[in-house]
Amino acid sequence: MTKKVYIKVFGCQMNVRDSEVICGLLEKAGYGLTDSPDKAGIILFNTCSVRQHAEDRVWSEIGRHKDGKIIGVLGCMAQNYKEKIFERAPNVDFVVGPSDIDKVPGIITRVCRYKLPDKAHSLNEAKIWETGGEKRTGDIYHTGFYADKDHAFVVISEGCSNYCSYCVVPYVRGEIRHRMSRDILKEIEEALDKGITKVTLLGQNVNAYSDGEVNFVKLLQLVNRMKGLQEFSFITSHPKNTAVDLFKAMAELEKLKKYLHLPLQSGSDRILKLMNRGYSRKFYLDLIEEYRKIVKKAVLTTDIIVGFPTETEDDFRDTYDALKGVEFDCAYIFKYSPRTHTEAEKLDDDVVKKDKEKRHKLILELQKEISRRKKCENTF
Ligand code: SF4
Repeated sequence: MTKKVYIKVFGCQMNVRDSEVICGLLEKAGYGLTDSPDKAGIILFNTCSVRQHAEDRVWSEIGRHKDGKIIGVLGCMAQNYKEKIFERAPNVDFVVGPSDIDKVPGIITRVCRYKLPDKAHSLNEAKIWETGGEKRTGDIYHTGFYADKDHAFVVISEGCSNYCSYCVVPYVRGEIRHRMSRDILKEIEEALDKGITKVTLLGQNVNAYSDGEVNFVKLLQLVNRMKGLQEFSFITSHPKNTAVDLFKAMAELEKLKKYLHLPLQSGSDRILKLMNRGYSRKFYLDLIEEYRKIVKKAVLTTDIIVGFPTETEDDFRDTYDALKGVEFDCAYIFKYSPRTHTEAEKLDDDVVKKDKEKRHKLILELQKEISRRKKCENTF
């Protein structure tokens, strides 16, 4: 049982892929995996810090495990709170940030050693935290572990340098680092050899991809040529780095899904500026007009934040009207919550809960109606 590991993932696809990487490394080190926490001696939480709600869920999950099992907190919350996690959750044994995941098997071995029943320890006495890593080693992506036997997530870049004012990602995952295209292609080749036929290229801002020689559009062209690959897609795009050359590639490359997730976040220019998004409402609307003109039967989804500090009824109306006008296939709609380290945290979170909820409900209902009409289910 001590050698069996259960891993619970919170947050985005990047965390899903990181969890696969961790599972692959653990298997290589001789650990077994289980999908039941009751059968595990080691419980890992790969966490998300993007919203307060996500963090609250993690704290509550951790609190449920007080039965002497080894508990590790990984990912964005680990990086965000570091050793402070032990103060709030003394049952946690170790904390590992996103750039240190290669160390997880070794840390578990060390923890197993001190956690023998006769070795009582006080808070922090035998706790381990690894959050100082800046760069991942490339080989961690080649363990061959994929949760889905037909589909692989492939990371093309890690971190983000956009510093949107509400977002914690640059602080917990660091500045953007691009993997070399030859390494990405090698990883896809290995996945195809294992029988995988579908791939999703992952990054916080895939459109900014460049390894010095190969840019994002070129990378798409190279992936499209790969034998055995049937379909591929990418996520997430940033409007300020998205241009017509991408749409042309999407129209031309037969294996590339005609799907674009392009976060708008707000329809108000004033709020977009406060969010440090780097584009205006008009820029965004012109961009998607081009997208729909060039890419036939194109699918378009987005992210929206309501209740950003200082958002007035007029700002909200701009967002509402943008959604009504654009008719996204699906939208992920969130209520703003302040995040530590971010610029927006310095602003007064002055949109009262009642207004945030009202705006969230209004926009959700609008989008649900649009999504129903367009036969898309994923509106949150
Ligand atoms: S683009 Fe902005 S919202 Fe997206 S990860 Fe980077 S900083 Fe966060």
